[in-house]
Amino acid sequence: MLDRVLQEIRARQRFVVTSHARPDGDGIGSALAMGQILRVMGKDAEVVMHDGVPRIYHNLPFAERVIQADSVPASFSGSDAVILLECDSTQRTLLDGLEKYFLINIDHHASGRNFAHINWIDSTVMATAELVFRLARLACVPVDRDIATCLYTALMTDTGSFMFEGTNEHTFTVARELVLAGADPALCARPIYFGHSTAKLRLLGAALSNLHREGPLAWIWVTQEQMTRFGAREEDCEGLVNYALSIADVQVAIFFRELADRRFRISLRSKGEVKVSTVAEYFGGGGHKCASGCSIDGPLAVAVSRIVDRLRAEAAVLGAD
Ligand code: 5GP
Repeated sequence: MLDRVLQEIRARQRFVVTSHARPDGDGIGSALAMGQILRVMGKDAEVVMHDGVPRIYHNLPFAERVIQADSVPASFSGSDAVILLECDSTQRTLLDGLEKYFLINIDHHASGRNFAHINWIDSTVMATAELVFRLARLACVPVDRDIATCLYTALMTDTGSFMFEGTNEHTFTVARELVLAGADPALCARPIYFGHSTAKLRLLGAALSNLHREGPLAWIWVTQEQMTRFGAREEDCEGLVNYALSIADVQVAIFFRELADRRFRISLRSKGEVKVSTVAEYFGGGGHKCASGCSIDGPLAVAVSRIVDRLRAEAAVLGAD
């Protein structure tokens, strides 16, 4: 499929590269690298993201070029292509009107779907960044320090700093190649792990004071009112769920974030024994075995019981009702 993707890229001149709304490190890092790889190939490429670049990724190379928009720029026509990274549908991007373009889908989620004209989904890799790296090499695009920095950041974040299940010798081989190409691990890590806003830390305090435990399950939540009070943004919620998962005897942690329309965004994390993606998929979301997400209706008590009941129904270890 990689050959086919490259063939379709070579046959076209103008590209929009995008990823999912509320992009994480793999979404942003892979998109920035992909945009630059296309430019080195002599293509016209713009990275367009519905939500722009989260603050902790502002220093990544090419981040300042990202266009924050609700749709593809008007200058693009139906014969141009859109490359979607890390998405299981056009809707995940929150960009309007993508259907009229030639769509190339590159993803590493097991829950990935064949929604595009070309679909390269490989769930054996830890990050979409690795697929972008492979594409660069097949296209004979030199992976310089800037591209390597974007790809390394993507790999580092999607592996949870090389801690998530699935991280193996191959992951470190890819990381090594990116470091050899110029990525600096300490410089890449600093803005991600030591670059938080004060608002995020205050929100973390509120979330942890809401910590709820039931056997091997732990959950936390934040409300709209708390987000407003602390001046926190959506991106400040990223990673909060990991604090609940860090408790020794917790197998699954859940984070509930109240949305403006009273629905809730759910982040599910597992230490490995429980596959949380089936629960996310049941509620219309998706993700990986150990990290997935979805949205469901509130109020909070209803959202909690629906998710917790579903988890218990899926995994005996969580104590079926
Ligand atoms: P997070 O909890 O950080 O939002 O997401 C964890 C993982 O699940 C990421 O790989 C993310 O792409 C995926 N994910 C989160 N929400 C959704 C969703 O609504 N749909 C799909 N398909 N994947 C999701």
